[in-house]
Amino acid sequence: MRIRRAEEVQGSGFDIALIGGVNFSLPGVTGSIVVETPFGVVRAYPFDVHGRKGVMISRHADGQKHLPPHMINYRAIVWAVAELGIERVISVNSVGTMQGHPIGSFVLPDDVLDMTRSRESTFHNDRTIHVDMTEPYCPRLRECLRDTLVKKELGFADGGVYVCTEGPRFETRAEIRMLSNFGDVVGMTGMPELVLARELNLCYASICTVTNNACGLGDGKITASEVVRTLQERQESLLEALLSFIERLPEKRDCNCMYATDIDACL
Ligand SMILES: [Zn+2]
Repeated sequence: MRIRRAEEVQGSGFDIALIGGVNFSLPGVTGSIVVETPFGVVRAYPFDVHGRKGVMISRHADGQKHLPPHMINYRAIVWAVAELGIERVISVNSVGTMQGHPIGSFVLPDDVLDMTRSRESTFHNDRTIHVDMTEPYCPRLRECLRDTLVKKELGFADGGVYVCTEGPRFETRAEIRMLSNFGDVVGMTGMPELVLARELNLCYASICTVTNNACGLGDGKITASEVVRTLQERQESLLEALLSFIERLPEKRDCNCMYATDIDACL
């Protein structure tokens, strides 16, 4: 496997970054790029789908190790995306449902509730930057994902509040009773990835696979093997959707994500 450094590939016209979760991989990926960031090194895997170029980054990967959600280096990953000149990100997540979504269906969240507590969640510890979160997920990327899922006749929910918990444990029944009043699905990796992307004025949207009912809402306890089994079963459909999405991706972005951080207003 040939490894290229980031400076070799800048300006090579990557359209999109896919940040993948557990068990996520793309077929036909050859070689990798090592991107050095102020927060650590990230390995990105370039791909070419129907002439559209992108990179895939596995957020849990650290050499041979599998990082738990609270130990993922979110800042390095998002910085690496921007370092490669990429403006648009699709995040692949798995979630538990608090609202009875069918297991194996997809959810395109349109808002987020951040219940994490120990993660580095900003690039700006040295100055005050208030990033706008009125429309946290890019409406254009969401629209394109939605059209793709409709065309592919894959079951999905358009919209919903993604609640991000700290993990790595699953939630308690009491927590889910509370969170279900405010949110639709619950996962552990959506934040601070999303807000970091907005701090760099990137477009960001998420496609979530529903792997289980949240704690207390299904039969018995939740197991990691149940989650992985559902992901494996839905992997083919997810890939089909993503490849079709990449093909339909607009040439240029025409949304307001590029203005998410108003640098002129920094304090
Ligand atoms: Zn956007």
